[in-house]
Amino acid sequence: MNRTLPPNLSEARFDQALDAWRAIVGAAQVLSSPDALDGYRDPFAFASQPEFAVTDASAAIRPASVDEIRAVLRVANQYRIPLWTVSTGRNFAYGGAAPRLTGSVVLDLQRLDRILAVDETLAYALVEPGVSYFDLHAYLRDKGYRLWVDPPAAGWGSVIGNTLERGFGYTPYGDHAAQQCGMEIVLANGDVVRTGMGGIDTGTAWQLYKPGYGPSFDPMFMQSNYGIVTKMGVWLMPAPPAYLLGEIQCRHEHDLGAIVETLRPLRLDETIRNHAVIEGGLRRAAGLGARRQWYDGPGPMPESALVAMLDALGVGRWNLHYALYGTPELIDARQAIVQRAFASVRDASIKVSRYRGDAQPVGGADRNLAGIPSMAAFRMLDWRGGAGAHVDFSPLCPATGAHAMRQYTMTKTRAAEYGFDYYGGFTAGARHLHHVFAAIFDRHDAQQSELAGQLLRVLISDARAAGYGEYRAHLGYMDFAAAQYSFNEGALLRLSETIKDALDPAGILSPGKQGIWPKAWRNRRGYT
Ligand code: ADP
Repeated sequence: MNRTLPPNLSEARFDQALDAWRAIVGAAQVLSSPDALDGYRDPFAFASQPEFAVTDASAAIRPASVDEIRAVLRVANQYRIPLWTVSTGRNFAYGGAAPRLTGSVVLDLQRLDRILAVDETLAYALVEPGVSYFDLHAYLRDKGYRLWVDPPAAGWGSVIGNTLERGFGYTPYGDHAAQQCGMEIVLANGDVVRTGMGGIDTGTAWQLYKPGYGPSFDPMFMQSNYGIVTKMGVWLMPAPPAYLLGEIQCRHEHDLGAIVETLRPLRLDETIRNHAVIEGGLRRAAGLGARRQWYDGPGPMPESALVAMLDALGVGRWNLHYALYGTPELIDARQAIVQRAFASVRDASIKVSRYRGDAQPVGGADRNLAGIPSMAAFRMLDWRGGAGAHVDFSPLCPATGAHAMRQYTMTKTRAAEYGFDYYGGFTAGARHLHHVFAAIFDRHDAQQSELAGQLLRVLISDARAAGYGEYRAHLGYMDFAAAQYSFNEGALLRLSETIKDALDPAGILSPGKQGIWPKAWRNRRGYT
């Protein structure tokens, strides 16, 4: 296999840079052989498909401290080698740990894995990039802190990586970006900045008050390539005395509109405070078994097979998962309101289970709503068989029934044209829904993989035509998704790139992330 080199760099110069990095972090922490770099490829990529940037890193470096990061950065600046920062690199379905620009060196921060502070009174933690949701959850439990984490769908990812990508979970703290307070960032020039109240070096309120004094910068470091985040504060939910898990099953396809219309007022007035999830029936069923039990033919699962499967499994066409937290009296009062509201949805049935705050839910699926990380989401990979993979279409959806039905119908119809089932659902903020559709494919099946790639591109452009934008995108679509934000001939991206060039004139940090290309690499837009 040919060696991948950083762009515009000779092999000899690259070897010099690698030696310089070895002197900083130790030889064992500089990975450059093809085998060692296997873990830095997109786990769901496939070679035949140009849509998915099958980008290879030229090396990976695993520093263990902020000082080492700064020294690594000095070498990168000296040799003009782009660094692609990841925390734990588990951004699956969006590219994993792979870089956007081929030949970038992955700066892997998993060895910075300390939980630096937990404060039970003020309900927050301060963590380093290598801390996963599993780690933080286990730590809180072992030490007896009465605080919950808010895990995303797959609990093995890092708190920092997920928050920076604006990932979300399912408790009232489900909007991860909104629960972030205070960061430490290494800038491209090596400067170390603490945001907000962290600007006071003997500070007492870094994790308590986001704005600080003067302009606020934290959101600028989310889904951007402006810095390397080395510490982050995260607010944690005080463990409630009790909680209730509810599932409302609805039988008809068009019920989606009524569910959204019924749910929104309950989210807005905070009767339901968590990120409730409206799961499509097929997605719910995929958590229970593989597709071939129900249908093994070509094309999307036909309506008759879908209905038979849902009936056999006792799963709704749409399944709303919500939770209520607090004292038993409060939960009962809220549950009565929810029940009254959903009584108007024809044929809807409600199942609830009540738990003490320290009890675990029975059965696997809803652990996330109880603040317990899990990996149940990975079951989806078995849906179609073979080497299961998926790529996600994630448009933002206004929280109205009409918009939800429109996005669902558009997506389902297109998916069927390309031979895919509608595997999706909506996660409910108060005013918006995160609509996530996954095209599940066997990555060893060239045709299926290629169709998944084509479908994604069509879905993104359909969405744009209807006034919808993606909230997150796979590496292969970052430029395309950014181009959809085209007001005033792309003024937003121009602003992003102006800031990029000011902060990182040599274009070292994660070129191409979210479609933001520094001057040095701007001609790479659209290429790998
Ligand atoms: P996960 O937590 O799921 O393992 P990753 O580590 O893959 O997430 O991070 C997701 C994305 O977020 C990365 O591709 C990168 O663009 C960005 N990112 C992650 N960690 C950092 C960090 N510490 N500083 C800057 N950007 C980061």
